[in-house]
Amino acid sequence: MTRPSHHRDGSFRNTDGEFTPRSLAELLRWRWDASRRGLPPRPAEPIPTQAPDVGFIHANAGAAQVPAVTWIGHATVLAQFGGISLLTDPIFSERASPLSFAGPKREQPPGVALHALPAIDVVLVSHNHYDHLDLPSCRALAAQPGGGPLFVVPLGLKAWFEARGIARVVELDWWQGHAVHGLEIVLVPARHWSARGLTDRMKTLWGGFAVFAPDCQLFFAGDTAYSRDFADIRERFAERQRPHQGGGFDLALIPIGAYEPRWFMRNQHVNVEEALKIHADLGAKRSLGVHWGTFELTDEALDEPPRQLARQRAAQGLGEDDFFALAIGETRRIPPRS
Ligand code: ZN
Ligand code: ZN
Repeated sequence: MTRPSHHRDGSFRNTDGEFTPRSLAELLRWRWDASRRGLPPRPAEPIPTQAPDVGFIHANAGAAQVPAVTWIGHATVLAQFGGISLLTDPIFSERASPLSFAGPKREQPPGVALHALPAIDVVLVSHNHYDHLDLPSCRALAAQPGGGPLFVVPLGLKAWFEARGIARVVELDWWQGHAVHGLEIVLVPARHWSARGLTDRMKTLWGGFAVFAPDCQLFFAGDTAYSRDFADIRERFAERQRPHQGGGFDLALIPIGAYEPRWFMRNQHVNVEEALKIHADLGAKRSLGVHWGTFELTDEALDEPPRQLARQRAAQGLGEDDFFALAIGETRRIPPRS
Protein backbone atom coordinates (compact mmCIF):
# COMPACT_ATOMS: atom_id res chain seq x y z
CA MET A 1 0.00 0.00 0.00
CA THR A 2 1.36 3.44 -0.84
CA ARG A 3 1.80 5.86 1.98
CA PRO A 4 -0.72 8.74 2.08
CA SER A 5 0.88 11.97 0.81
CA HIS A 6 0.42 13.73 4.17
CA HIS A 7 2.47 11.09 6.00
CA ARG A 8 6.20 11.58 6.50
CA ASP A 9 8.59 9.40 8.47
CA GLY A 10 7.23 9.92 11.95
CA SER A 11 5.50 13.20 11.12
CA PHE A 12 2.77 14.79 9.00
CA ARG A 13 2.30 17.57 6.49
CA ASN A 14 -0.58 19.54 4.99
CA THR A 15 -2.35 18.58 1.76
CA ASP A 16 -0.69 21.54 0.03
CA GLY A 17 2.77 20.81 1.39
CA GLU A 18 5.03 21.36 4.35
CA PHE A 19 4.08 23.86 6.98
CA THR A 20 6.92 26.34 7.19
CA PRO A 21 7.13 27.39 10.78
CA ARG A 22 7.87 31.04 11.40
CA SER A 23 11.45 31.58 12.44
CA LEU A 24 12.49 32.84 15.85
CA ALA A 25 13.46 36.12 14.15
CA GLU A 26 9.93 36.43 12.73
CA LEU A 27 8.40 35.62 16.09
CA LEU A 28 10.53 38.29 17.73
CA ARG A 29 9.64 40.80 15.01
CA TRP A 30 5.93 40.15 15.58
CA ARG A 31 6.23 40.47 19.37
CA TRP A 32 8.38 43.62 19.07
CA ASP A 33 5.97 45.23 16.61
CA ALA A 34 2.96 44.37 18.76
CA SER A 35 4.46 45.81 21.91
CA ARG A 36 5.68 48.95 20.12
CA ARG A 37 2.22 49.54 18.65
CA GLY A 38 0.35 48.54 21.81
CA LEU A 39 -1.42 45.57 20.22
CA PRO A 40 -3.87 44.05 20.69
CA PRO A 41 -6.11 47.05 21.48
CA ARG A 42 -8.34 46.61 24.51
CA PRO A 43 -11.84 45.46 23.49
CA ALA A 44 -14.21 48.38 22.87
CA GLU A 45 -17.05 46.50 24.57
CA PRO A 46 -17.21 43.57 26.96
CA ILE A 47 -17.33 40.16 25.30
CA PRO A 48 -21.01 39.10 25.33
CA THR A 49 -21.70 36.45 27.92
CA GLN A 50 -24.92 35.06 29.33
CA ALA A 51 -25.96 32.58 31.98
CA PRO A 52 -26.37 29.17 30.33
CA ASP A 53 -29.80 27.57 30.10
CA VAL A 54 -28.66 24.61 32.18
CA GLY A 55 -32.24 23.32 32.52
CA PHE A 56 -32.62 23.07 28.75
CA ILE A 57 -29.13 21.63 28.26
CA HIS A 58 -29.75 18.84 30.78
CA ALA A 59 -33.24 18.07 29.49
CA ASN A 60 -32.08 18.06 25.85
CA ALA A 61 -31.57 14.29 25.60
CA GLY A 62 -33.28 11.15 24.39
CA ALA A 63 -36.36 11.23 22.18
CA ALA A 64 -37.16 14.83 23.16
CA GLN A 65 -33.76 16.12 21.99
CA VAL A 66 -33.57 18.92 19.43
CA PRO A 67 -30.25 19.73 17.72
CA ALA A 68 -28.62 22.58 19.64
CA VAL A 69 -25.22 24.11 20.26
CA THR A 70 -23.97 26.05 23.27
CA TRP A 71 -20.78 28.12 23.02
CA ILE A 72 -18.60 27.55 26.07
CA GLY A 73 -15.77 29.77 24.80
CA HIS A 74 -12.83 29.60 22.37
CA ALA A 75 -13.26 26.42 20.24
CA THR A 76 -15.21 24.63 22.98
CA VAL A 77 -18.79 23.96 21.88
CA LEU A 78 -21.37 21.68 23.44
CA ALA A 79 -23.25 20.13 20.51
CA GLN A 80 -26.37 18.10 21.24
CA PHE A 81 -27.82 16.06 18.38
CA GLY A 82 -28.14 12.44 17.29
CA GLY A 83 -29.18 11.57 20.85
CA ILE A 84 -25.82 12.49 22.36
CA SER A 85 -23.92 15.38 23.94
CA LEU A 86 -20.59 16.13 22.31
CA LEU A 87 -17.82 18.61 23.16
CA THR A 88 -15.30 20.09 20.74
CA ASP A 89 -11.76 20.93 21.93
CA PRO A 90 -12.69 21.28 25.60
CA ILE A 91 -10.74 23.90 27.52
CA PHE A 92 -12.05 25.05 30.90
CA SER A 93 -8.67 25.97 32.41
CA GLU A 94 -7.48 29.43 33.41
CA ARG A 95 -4.63 29.40 30.89
CA ALA A 96 -3.99 27.93 27.44
CA SER A 97 -0.44 27.03 28.34
CA PRO A 98 1.77 24.26 29.70
CA LEU A 99 2.27 26.45 32.78
CA SER A 100 -0.36 27.28 35.37
CA PHE A 101 1.18 30.71 36.08
CA ALA A 102 2.12 31.99 32.60
CA GLY A 103 0.77 32.01 29.07
CA PRO A 104 -2.53 33.26 27.58
CA LYS A 105 -5.03 33.78 30.37
CA ARG A 106 -8.75 33.24 30.07
CA GLU A 107 -10.61 36.56 29.73
CA GLN A 108 -14.03 35.16 30.67
CA PRO A 109 -15.11 32.07 32.54
CA PRO A 110 -16.41 29.06 30.57
CA GLY A 111 -20.02 29.57 29.42
CA VAL A 112 -20.96 26.34 31.15
CA ALA A 113 -18.84 25.22 34.11
CA LEU A 114 -17.36 21.72 33.95
CA HIS A 115 -19.49 20.57 36.88
CA ALA A 116 -22.66 21.92 35.23
CA LEU A 117 -22.24 19.93 32.00
CA PRO A 118 -24.59 17.10 31.15
CA ALA A 119 -22.97 13.66 30.72
CA ILE A 120 -20.69 13.98 27.72
CA ASP A 121 -20.71 11.05 25.28
CA VAL A 122 -18.06 12.12 22.79
CA VAL A 123 -15.16 14.61 22.82
CA LEU A 124 -13.54 15.71 19.57
CA VAL A 125 -9.94 16.96 19.81
CA SER A 126 -8.69 18.67 16.64
CA HIS A 127 -4.97 18.93 17.47
CA ASN A 128 -2.52 19.16 20.34
CA HIS A 129 -2.06 22.95 20.75
CA TYR A 130 -2.67 24.04 24.33
CA ASP A 131 -5.76 26.08 23.50
CA HIS A 132 -7.42 22.94 22.01
CA LEU A 133 -6.01 20.02 23.97
CA ASP A 134 -6.19 20.88 27.66
CA LEU A 135 -5.10 18.05 29.92
CA PRO A 136 -6.95 19.11 33.12
CA SER A 137 -10.21 19.43 31.15
CA CYS A 138 -9.75 16.03 29.49
CA ARG A 139 -8.93 14.43 32.83
CA ALA A 140 -12.00 15.94 34.47
CA LEU A 141 -14.23 14.74 31.63
CA ALA A 142 -12.72 11.25 31.73
CA ALA A 143 -13.64 11.14 35.43
CA GLN A 144 -17.27 12.27 34.97
CA PRO A 145 -19.83 10.23 36.94
CA GLY A 146 -21.06 7.20 35.00
CA GLY A 147 -17.85 6.85 32.97
CA GLY A 148 -15.82 9.04 30.66
CA PRO A 149 -16.69 10.04 27.09
CA LEU A 150 -15.10 8.60 23.98
CA PHE A 151 -12.23 10.87 22.88
CA VAL A 152 -11.85 11.00 19.11
CA VAL A 153 -8.43 12.35 18.16
CA PRO A 154 -6.07 12.64 15.18
CA LEU A 155 -3.37 10.05 14.52
CA GLY A 156 -0.58 9.93 17.10
CA LEU A 157 -2.56 11.30 20.05
CA LYS A 158 -4.00 8.02 21.42
CA ALA A 159 -0.67 7.17 23.05
CA TRP A 160 -0.54 10.66 24.59
CA PHE A 161 -3.94 10.12 26.22
CA GLU A 162 -3.12 6.58 27.32
CA ALA A 163 0.13 7.73 28.94
CA ARG A 164 -2.04 10.09 31.00
CA GLY A 165 -4.49 7.42 32.10
CA ILE A 166 -7.24 8.15 29.56
CA ALA A 167 -7.98 4.92 27.72
CA ARG A 168 -11.29 5.46 25.89
CA VAL A 169 -9.70 6.96 22.80
CA VAL A 170 -10.05 6.38 19.07
CA GLU A 171 -7.46 7.93 16.77
CA LEU A 172 -8.17 8.62 13.14
CA ASP A 173 -6.26 9.48 9.99
CA TRP A 174 -7.73 12.01 7.54
CA TRP A 175 -10.87 10.59 5.90
CA GLN A 176 -11.06 7.74 8.40
CA GLY A 177 -14.38 7.33 10.17
CA HIS A 178 -15.59 5.85 13.42
CA ALA A 179 -19.17 4.83 14.19
CA VAL A 180 -20.45 5.40 17.73
CA HIS A 181 -23.94 5.85 19.23
CA GLY A 182 -25.39 5.67 15.69
CA LEU A 183 -23.27 8.61 14.48
CA GLU A 184 -20.36 8.54 12.09
CA ILE A 185 -17.37 10.73 12.93
CA VAL A 186 -14.81 11.40 10.18
CA LEU A 187 -11.50 13.22 10.62
CA VAL A 188 -10.89 15.61 7.71
CA PRO A 189 -7.85 17.64 6.63
CA ALA A 190 -7.11 21.17 7.81
CA ARG A 191 -4.17 23.42 6.98
CA HIS A 192 -2.42 23.77 10.29
CA TRP A 193 0.32 22.13 12.36
CA SER A 194 1.00 20.52 15.70
CA ALA A 195 3.44 20.75 18.61
CA ARG A 196 3.27 20.93 22.39
CA GLY A 197 6.99 21.30 22.95
CA LEU A 198 10.15 22.06 21.06
CA THR A 199 10.82 18.52 19.82
CA ASP A 200 7.43 17.20 18.68
CA ARG A 201 6.59 19.52 15.80
CA MET A 202 4.24 17.84 13.25
CA LYS A 203 4.60 14.47 15.00
CA THR A 204 0.89 14.10 15.69
CA LEU A 205 -1.80 14.84 13.13
CA TRP A 206 -4.26 17.77 13.16
CA GLY A 207 -7.59 18.17 11.42
CA GLY A 208 -11.28 18.93 11.53
CA PHE A 209 -14.28 16.65 11.94
CA ALA A 210 -17.45 15.84 10.04
CA VAL A 211 -20.12 14.22 12.20
CA PHE A 212 -23.11 12.58 10.57
CA ALA A 213 -26.32 11.89 12.48
CA PRO A 214 -29.86 11.51 11.12
CA ASP A 215 -31.02 14.83 12.61
CA CYS A 216 -27.87 16.91 12.05
CA GLN A 217 -24.61 16.91 10.11
CA LEU A 218 -21.99 18.91 11.98
CA PHE A 219 -18.66 20.21 10.73
CA PHE A 220 -15.90 21.34 13.09
CA ALA A 221 -12.90 22.95 11.42
CA GLY A 222 -10.46 22.88 14.35
CA ASP A 223 -7.68 25.40 13.65
CA THR A 224 -6.95 26.07 10.01
CA ALA A 225 -5.61 28.40 7.39
CA TYR A 226 -7.56 28.77 4.18
CA SER A 227 -7.00 25.97 1.67
CA ARG A 228 -8.58 23.81 -0.99
CA ASP A 229 -9.40 21.28 1.70
CA PHE A 230 -12.92 22.62 2.27
CA ALA A 231 -13.96 22.29 -1.37
CA ASP A 232 -12.50 18.77 -1.27
CA ILE A 233 -14.48 17.96 1.88
CA ARG A 234 -17.72 19.09 0.23
CA GLU A 235 -16.97 16.94 -2.80
CA ARG A 236 -16.01 13.92 -0.70
CA PHE A 237 -19.32 13.97 1.19
CA ALA A 238 -21.52 15.02 -1.74
CA GLU A 239 -23.18 11.63 -2.02
CA ARG A 240 -24.67 11.96 1.46
CA GLN A 241 -25.56 15.64 1.20
CA ARG A 242 -27.74 15.73 -1.91
CA PRO A 243 -30.82 17.95 -1.69
CA HIS A 244 -33.22 15.02 -1.18
CA GLN A 245 -30.98 13.81 1.68
CA GLY A 246 -31.26 17.14 3.43
CA GLY A 247 -28.38 19.03 1.77
CA GLY A 248 -25.04 20.16 3.19
CA PHE A 249 -23.77 20.46 6.76
CA ASP A 250 -26.53 21.76 9.03
CA LEU A 251 -23.94 23.62 11.08
CA ALA A 252 -20.24 24.35 10.63
CA LEU A 253 -18.06 25.51 13.53
CA ILE A 254 -15.45 27.76 11.92
CA PRO A 255 -12.71 29.79 13.63
CA ILE A 256 -13.04 33.56 13.19
CA GLY A 257 -10.37 34.82 15.61
CA ALA A 258 -6.58 34.86 16.20
CA TYR A 259 -5.61 36.13 12.74
CA GLU A 260 -3.48 39.30 13.07
CA PRO A 261 -0.86 40.09 11.87
CA ARG A 262 -1.59 38.36 8.59
CA TRP A 263 2.06 38.08 7.55
CA PHE A 264 2.62 35.88 10.60
CA MET A 265 -0.74 34.09 10.94
CA ARG A 266 -2.00 33.48 7.41
CA ASN A 267 -0.43 30.02 7.06
CA GLN A 268 -2.13 28.73 10.22
CA HIS A 269 -5.30 30.75 11.03
CA VAL A 270 -8.03 32.09 8.77
CA ASN A 271 -9.33 35.62 9.12
CA VAL A 272 -13.04 36.44 8.90
CA GLU A 273 -12.98 36.84 5.12
CA GLU A 274 -11.48 33.36 4.76
CA ALA A 275 -13.87 31.90 7.33
CA LEU A 276 -16.72 33.11 5.11
CA LYS A 277 -15.01 31.41 2.15
CA ILE A 278 -14.84 28.15 4.09
CA HIS A 279 -18.56 28.47 4.88
CA ALA A 280 -19.24 28.88 1.14
CA ASP A 281 -16.79 26.15 0.04
CA LEU A 282 -18.42 23.66 2.41
CA GLY A 283 -21.91 24.56 1.28
CA ALA A 284 -22.89 24.67 4.95
CA LYS A 285 -26.44 25.74 5.73
CA ARG A 286 -25.21 27.86 8.61
CA SER A 287 -22.01 28.46 10.53
CA LEU A 288 -21.04 29.46 14.04
CA GLY A 289 -17.88 31.54 14.47
CA VAL A 290 -15.63 30.22 17.25
CA HIS A 291 -12.01 30.65 18.44
CA TRP A 292 -12.41 34.25 19.64
CA GLY A 293 -13.36 36.24 22.72
CA THR A 294 -11.71 33.95 25.25
CA PHE A 295 -7.89 34.01 25.08
CA GLU A 296 -5.89 36.96 23.78
CA LEU A 297 -3.54 35.18 21.37
CA THR A 298 -2.92 37.67 18.57
CA ASP A 299 -2.96 41.33 17.55
CA GLU A 300 -6.63 41.98 16.79
CA ALA A 301 -8.84 43.14 19.66
CA LEU A 302 -10.65 40.28 21.39
CA ASP A 303 -14.03 41.69 20.30
CA GLU A 304 -13.05 42.47 16.69
CA PRO A 305 -13.94 39.14 14.96
CA PRO A 306 -17.76 39.39 15.37
CA ARG A 307 -17.69 43.05 14.24
CA GLN A 308 -15.83 41.97 11.11
CA LEU A 309 -18.24 39.08 10.68
CA ALA A 310 -21.31 41.33 10.84
CA ARG A 311 -19.78 43.77 8.34
CA GLN A 312 -18.57 41.20 5.82
CA ARG A 313 -21.65 39.01 6.11
CA ALA A 314 -23.85 41.97 5.26
CA ALA A 315 -21.59 42.92 2.33
CA GLN A 316 -22.13 39.41 0.93
CA GLY A 317 -25.88 39.57 1.40
CA LEU A 318 -25.87 36.89 4.10
CA GLY A 319 -28.20 37.01 7.08
CA GLU A 320 -27.36 36.68 10.77
CA ASP A 321 -28.55 33.06 10.81
CA ASP A 322 -26.23 32.13 7.91
CA PHE A 323 -23.03 32.77 9.87
CA PHE A 324 -23.51 33.86 13.45
CA ALA A 325 -21.59 34.45 16.63
CA LEU A 326 -23.05 33.61 20.04
CA ALA A 327 -22.55 35.03 23.50
CA ILE A 328 -20.44 32.80 25.71
CA GLY A 329 -22.98 30.54 27.44
CA GLU A 330 -25.64 31.06 24.75
CA THR A 331 -27.51 28.16 23.15
CA ARG A 332 -28.88 28.08 19.63
CA ARG A 333 -31.31 25.48 18.39
CA ILE A 334 -30.61 24.14 14.89
CA PRO A 335 -33.51 23.07 12.65
CA PRO A 336 -33.38 19.27 12.46
CA ARG A 337 -32.38 17.74 9.17
CA SER A 338 -35.36 16.43 7.29
ZN1 ZN B 1 -3.57 25.40 16.71
ZN1 ZN C 1 -6.19 27.63 18.34
